Amino acid sequence: MTDRQAMPLQDPKERAKNFDEVALGYTDEMALAEASRCLECKNPKCVDGCPVNIDIPGFIAHIKAEDFDGAIETIKLTNALPAVCGRVCPQEVQCEELCVLAKKGKPVAIGRLERFCADYERKKGVTPPVRPESTGKKVAVIGAGPAGLTAAADLAKEGHEITIFESLHDTGGVLTYGIPEFRLPKAIVKEEVEYIKQLGVDVKVDYVIGKIKTLDELRNEYDAVFLGTGAGLPKFMGIEGENLNGVYSANEFLTRVNLMKAYQFPDYDTPIKRGKNVIVVGGGNVAMDAARSALRLGADEVSIVYRRGEDELPARKEEIENAKEEGIVFRLLTNPTRILEGENMTVNGVECIKMELGEPDESGRRSPVAVEGSEHVIPADIVIIAIGTSPNPMIFSGSEGLDTNSRGTIIVDESGKTSLDNVYAGGDAVTGAATVISAMGAGKVAAKAINEYLSN
Ligand SMILES: Cc1cc2nc3c(=O)[nH]c(=O)nc-3n(C[C@H](O)[C@H](O)[C@H](O)COP(=O)(O)OP(=O)(O)OC[C@H]3O[C@@H](n4cnc5c(N)ncnc54)[C@H](O)[C@@H]3O)c2cc1C
Repeated sequence: MTDRQAMPLQDPKERAKNFDEVALGYTDEMALAEASRCLECKNPKCVDGCPVNIDIPGFIAHIKAEDFDGAIETIKLTNALPAVCGRVCPQEVQCEELCVLAKKGKPVAIGRLERFCADYERKKGVTPPVRPESTGKKVAVIGAGPAGLTAAADLAKEGHEITIFESLHDTGGVLTYGIPEFRLPKAIVKEEVEYIKQLGVDVKVDYVIGKIKTLDELRNEYDAVFLGTGAGLPKFMGIEGENLNGVYSANEFLTRVNLMKAYQFPDYDTPIKRGKNVIVVGGGNVAMDAARSALRLGADEVSIVYRRGEDELPARKEEIENAKEEGIVFRLLTNPTRILEGENMTVNGVECIKMELGEPDESGRRSPVAVEGSEHVIPADIVIIAIGTSPNPMIFSGSEGLDTNSRGTIIVDESGKTSLDNVYAGGDAVTGAATVISAMGAGKVAAKAINEYLSN
């Protein structure tokens, strides 16, 4: 059997200095070779691993037959954001984990093939979708991230009139303001959003629900409402020095890099501090993105400071490898205790303590325990905190009776319905920070339930 086709990448030394996409994509030959590895299982498990149920064997069979149009059509039956998912989905713990070939460590590269099909269609020119006849029913979708966009696309395909309300000046949610250009080019997100607009979806940006209009008002004006408001409120550590000039939440830092276009430096004079010694606290995808962005903005040294070990790093393996190749320093089993103050309330280093792993906590992960007397100072002029986020409570002002749990996430039943009659929710606003595809899956589930509700 042909070996799993590697993804061609930009050279690490070069890419550490630019914001161009790191992964370059398969050629036709590579896609055909990779598709030929699919065993066409009688009872394929891969589809069970996909939260939006793409007909994976079906689209791969089209690639094998060199029918790339058929392949992308098959994907788009259930996924309106294939170029996004082909780039950022953690396939290794979803569809690819269930591929029979995963047992030998080399599953079919389903994500790379999905990206290939989406890129093929973009190069050729996307065929505009057919708009169905209107049912006259109106649905308001709050938030233009993957959950909201997917719910909007599915409901528009049913003929309902959809309006998306987005608080930022651009669509895409985290896809636009969080994930950097070198992993997910903005132009690609824009094109996929454009396709959804062509289904008849109306998008109102700069529109904060909870301020300009309340949820209760929307419930009266629309037949149903979907909340896809994400989890964009950053958490902090609560240590001394977090108020100093030069301390950012990863959300703020990445918003300045992406949405405020610091990545196009020097063409854009975005207000952002370009540090020489940058410390990023955290070990997830967000931390990797912040660290690699800081490096590309010209830092001499960027360190990831994480309180657990290598095996516990929650970021995708691929992103950890990429970050290491680019020269990001990993200071593992290390925890910040204090941010030190320099002149004019600026950052002048971070005091840290070494950690060791103790007994497993309720999540099953071994808890880090501080090693007495191991305090040390790491020089830094910028500190970026990437230790998680929670839902922004703005949506709740002026709405009564929307149940949430102690973490501030919205409570829904299995159909995505909230405690309010015609209000549904999904994505990070319900689960807390998770993944693009799980948000899309939740958008789909809720869209199905809303459609049934409107049909009755
Ligand atoms: C830096 C970063 C990197 C990531 N990398 C990956 C990755 O590689 N792979 C992966 O699968 N996942 C990744 N994730 C997680 C993933 O992006 C999220 O799980 C996903 O975007 C959640 O989608 P969502 O639609 O629920 O919310 P969001 O994408 O957060 O979208 C919510 C939208 O709602 C808007 N909104 C909020 N409140 C209001 C309001 N009151 N009125 C109007 N609009 C409002 C927000 O402005 C936002 O645009 C990453 C996250 C971050 C932050």
